[in-house]
Amino acid sequence: LFVVFEGGEGAGKSTQLAALAERLRGQGRDVVVTREPGATGIGQRIRSLVLETADDEAPSPRAEALLYAADRAHHIATVVRPALVRGAVVISDRYVDSSLAYQGAGRTLPVQEVSWLSSWATGGLKPDLVVLLDVDPHTGRTRVDSRNQGADRLEAESIGFHERVRYAFLDLAAADPKRYLVLDASRPVEEIAAAVARRVDEFLVD
Ligand code: C5P
Repeated sequence: LFVVFEGGEGAGKSTQLAALAERLRGQGRDVVVTREPGATGIGQRIRSLVLETADDEAPSPRAEALLYAADRAHHIATVVRPALVRGAVVISDRYVDSSLAYQGAGRTLPVQEVSWLSSWATGGLKPDLVVLLDVDPHTGRTRVDSRNQGADRLEAESIGFHERVRYAFLDLAAADPKRYLVLDASRPVEEIAAAVARRVDEFLVD
């Protein structure tokens, strides 16, 4: 089972991902928690290239899209596929939709092209479930600021950028409702966790 969490900055992905992993491990399941970008050694280096480079040296939009695709190709080949093959539940913090939303809608690259690039990078691997934690960019920004972390370069993006990203995620979910669980990230943490657990359980009834 391959579950992906998506959402804008400050949506609470890490909290929900950890809660789901803990619950599934409590059931004795083999669970692999992973993320993009940066789950592998190569991925870490790509992550810092993309996210920690000074603004005046930031990669161009196409270069950025290729770097995320390279991170993803390596991540899928070395972490995600092997885990799925041995029957683990894989939970990833971000996946292809982040590229469609950030590099596509955010940086205004043609979304169809970013989608082809991602399919090529992953060999077409799709998640069974995408949990979209939908957050208003203003609220998300406040949450990120209050914990004083996050990706410096992306935090510098305008609210307009983050609004395009938000609506791109919502459009992707609307186009494939069976694969998505869209939750309002401003709801209490426990309520969101319970909704995620209910949906994931539907996949795991043995
Ligand atoms: O989720 P996390 O905070 O690790 O994401 C790091 C940053 O990378 C985020 O600010 C996100 O906006 C950005 N990102 C991106 N394109 C991707 C994946 C992440 O711009 N495909």
